[in-house]
Amino acid sequence: MTETGPPTTITDDRVLRPGDDGYDAARQVWNAMVDHRPAMIVRCRETSDVAAAVRLARSEGLEIGVRCGGHSVVGHAVPDGGLMIDLTPMRGVRVAPRRRRAWVQGGALLGALDAATQPYGLATTAGNVSHTGVGGLTLGGGMGWLARKHGLTCDNLVSCELVTADGDVVRASEDENPELFWGLRGGGGNFGIVTEFELRLHETGTRALSVELDFAAGGAAPAMARWRDLNATAPREATYAATVYDSVVTLGFVWIGDPAAGREHAQVLDALGPPLDRRVVEMAYVDLQRREDTLEGHALRRYWKGHYIRELPDAAIEVLVAQDPTVAASVQAYGGAIAEVPDDATAYSQRDAAFEYVAAVRWTDPAEDEERMAAARASAARLVPYASGVYVNVLGDEGAEGVRRAYPPEKLARLTALKDAYDPGNVFHLNQNIPPSP
Ligand code: FAD
Repeated sequence: MTETGPPTTITDDRVLRPGDDGYDAARQVWNAMVDHRPAMIVRCRETSDVAAAVRLARSEGLEIGVRCGGHSVVGHAVPDGGLMIDLTPMRGVRVAPRRRRAWVQGGALLGALDAATQPYGLATTAGNVSHTGVGGLTLGGGMGWLARKHGLTCDNLVSCELVTADGDVVRASEDENPELFWGLRGGGGNFGIVTEFELRLHETGTRALSVELDFAAGGAAPAMARWRDLNATAPREATYAATVYDSVVTLGFVWIGDPAAGREHAQVLDALGPPLDRRVVEMAYVDLQRREDTLEGHALRRYWKGHYIRELPDAAIEVLVAQDPTVAASVQAYGGAIAEVPDDATAYSQRDAAFEYVAAVRWTDPAEDEERMAAARASAARLVPYASGVYVNVLGDEGAEGVRRAYPPEKLARLTALKDAYDPGNVFHLNQNIPPSP
């Protein structure tokens, strides 16, 4: 490990305290239910600021929260009364097009990554909403429209630089600290604060196609069963996706690459029967990546519950199409390159999931909090008999039980050993926490 120099020096222009201009804006995150008030926010501009902030928090006994995109649904990034390490000023992305590499700073958003790579016709897997952070998304796995072809974001991680719980700066890759590198690919923010991600890029072109067929929820089960069967043999350019909301079931796929080939594949959906509406939209890849930005925008109250589903039997489909119309359920296909990575190669788990299911609710009136959250919980609870686990990045308030659903026992044991080595005091615990050994 390399020492980073001066322990706790942070210049005043990087620190926000309650009452300062910009303090309230800096503590706001995606979910409007989160109203935490840190004692101090350190707006980090470089790795040495992050190291100094870690040391300062430890010397002052302040709880640490790490903020990148601020999309943790429970607001883990913002420690109430603690020190928020705000990485958002570290949002740079550097691309080496011929080497097919991007170096992404730890506070960058997905939109910055796509904007930097797409001028070269390159991209790597990123999530479906461009204001999500590269930090949280990559460290938990990173699912997106390119994953069936090119693997999860964490599968495209080549190396990273991070600040440890002691404020040291270390690198991790297959060759340097390989066990740490294993844990950073799926183990979340438990082992340190990543200040730079090196990501592998792919020639993806710049075009995408979305195909969506709407059905009335009442009679949609046979169509959804056919959609599920077609998914099993779908090409990797296609990611099958479905939503169930407001008594409408939307079935289709997103295609990355030659839109003409996507349109040709769309013909298989004729087997679903006549839809109420059919939308085939060709667009730029960057527009696809921003398509849900407004719908999934900030300032609303949010809650969700999710599952991985290894198979989607007819009985599960019956439950899905009959769900509470106020809850927005999404089902997104996995498989392809995700499933080809050996399970023990990364901390990320459950590569055998066929689909990810999320039941989400959004609202504005705090008086509705309990009712809305209960609706999402109830929808997800009805699918528990068909669930095989959960994606760590979709966990919210489940605590240790959720973490046990995200990782099988042998992975959890290996992650615990890594936590013992890198953060035995559990300095980084505002996350989906892997506690050190007792
Ligand atoms: P933050 O709240 O800033 O960070 C969450 C946690 O990640 C922090 O508490 C910290 O523990 C850790 N962390 C963040 N950055 C770093 C860093 N640089 N170093 C160390 N630890 C860090 N997931 C997908 O896989 N695919 C999707 O398509 C997708 N879409 C989403 C859309 C929306 C609207 C939302 C809200 C979430 C979505 N997610 C998706 C889930 C997303 O991956 C997680 O919410 C993730 O934690 C968000 O990361 P963040 O950096 O934006 O959040």
